[in-house]
Amino acid sequence: MVGAVTRNPATDGTPAPVAFDDAMRRYAPVLGLETHVELGTASKMFCSCATVFGAAPNTQVCPVCLALPGALPVVNGTAVESAVRLGLALNCSIAEWCRFARKNYFYPDMPKNYQISQYDEPLCSDGHLDVTVDTPDGPREFRVEIERVHMEEDTGKTAHVGGATGRIHGAEYSIVDYNRAGIPLLEIVTRPIEHTGDLAPLVARAYVSELRDLVRSLGISDVRMEEGSLRCDVNVSLMPVGATEWGTRSETKNVNSLRSVERAVRSEIERQAGVLDAGQRVVQETRHFQENTGGTVAGRSKEEAQDYRYFPDPDLVPVAPDPAWVEELRAGLPELPAALRARVKAEWSLTDEELRDLVNADAIALVSATVDAGAPPADARKWWLNELSRRATENEVELAALPITPAQVARVAALVAEGTLTNKLARQVVEGVLNGEGDPDQVVEARGLKVVSDDSALGAAVDRAIADNPDVAEKIRGGKVAAAGALVGAVMKATRGQADAGRARQMILERLGAA
Ligand code: ADP
Ligand code: MG
Ligand code: ZN
Repeated sequence: MVGAVTRNPATDGTPAPVAFDDAMRRYAPVLGLETHVELGTASKMFCSCATVFGAAPNTQVCPVCLALPGALPVVNGTAVESAVRLGLALNCSIAEWCRFARKNYFYPDMPKNYQISQYDEPLCSDGHLDVTVDTPDGPREFRVEIERVHMEEDTGKTAHVGGATGRIHGAEYSIVDYNRAGIPLLEIVTRPIEHTGDLAPLVARAYVSELRDLVRSLGISDVRMEEGSLRCDVNVSLMPVGATEWGTRSETKNVNSLRSVERAVRSEIERQAGVLDAGQRVVQETRHFQENTGGTVAGRSKEEAQDYRYFPDPDLVPVAPDPAWVEELRAGLPELPAALRARVKAEWSLTDEELRDLVNADAIALVSATVDAGAPPADARKWWLNELSRRATENEVELAALPITPAQVARVAALVAEGTLTNKLARQVVEGVLNGEGDPDQVVEARGLKVVSDDSALGAAVDRAIADNPDVAEKIRGGKVAAAGALVGAVMKATRGQADAGRARQMILERLGAA
């Protein structure tokens, strides 16, 4: 089974990776995903400090999150509520009683030298999330089992200054910002995901994407991967096809985009297949994903749970959510993404492909909200999938992060439908809204973008076009109605595209006796 082993010339004798398809013929991957979601609560997990992203360093800190002696933590009720709601949305059981635990390790961005987390008593456990993957043979569904959802607090952020790479090696000094220390996190841990075969990279990506949409629909986090409010650790192991005992896993930390999740799984499969082919053992370690190469490099060898000396945090009372309150939260859950997809597909009569385009563009909730704000589904889809998707790509932001609301898009669509704007003008209005010039109506007013359709202003432009183009006018008078296009063009030019072209044409023909 083990063929000739090629050494990787770029490194110290690490076995060369095996091409993905080849690896998949001989090995079966097992995945595990640990996702951290930073909650959007106004205050931190155990103190009342603010949580605004991007504030000046160390301005959102207090004795509790700096762990000054004698300071005592108090649980943020909204964070518990968010955790319960996510647990319910993931079909988990909610513990009637659970505690926080101290996870002890030293890291300079963690002032207490322990992190308050949950260990053997997570708030939510035993759930599942169904995800769909597109395959050449059509969509395939996978059920991802959720082991647990637990609450914890984020660490601060260290920056290494003076080096070329921004990493600690070669840096002159490091600075630390504790603003993020103590921000509430939920960690969502899957059970090992088996039987995906060569779809493993896509299943991992689909899971993170579905989880992100679910969290977003609950409104508990802005889940921006690029800002780190959703971060994913990707565990991968390989076993020979047909084996039942899982292989040793590696854990690639803090993968920061959906595309990177997919690439991290793929490259780990290729790397580990090389290691196994060479007769070596995969080391249990954390690895770091490299954006530029799409591969991973070794980090630290992985601690075992006992290294963390977990014990219940004596400073905090247990969390005991009242079952009646949990049921209230369950009843108050919004429509979740899977249900939303099924509903819009039926209501808007979408084909599988049209639905897939909406899902791939990450536009379904936005389009749905735009329809709720009064736009016809076709218009709402058109705006989000064309003009706005293009601008999001141009600015390298997610569609949902564009500074325009579904209600504003619906208003633009309405202005087009009522004839106040042409499509071309509407795009300028959208540009204005995105520039922060205000609501669509304010942009129309401020930029003077209304279609010129009132007869006196339009009439003046028409008269001028006729006077400026006597030979064209003559042809039209002589019955060559098709020549009117040239005069309509002149009117459009004179009104900077703001004329109602149909009305202009009609006036031209009337004035020249050709109507
Ligand atoms: P740790 O806290 O050390 O990261 P966990 O028990 O939380 O360990 O597991 C991490 C993730 O890895 C979980 O999603 C789990 O399902 C998954 N996992 C466990 N064993 C394997 C394996 N052999 N191969 C792939 N994934 C695994
Ligand atoms: Mg872990
Ligand atoms: Zn604080």
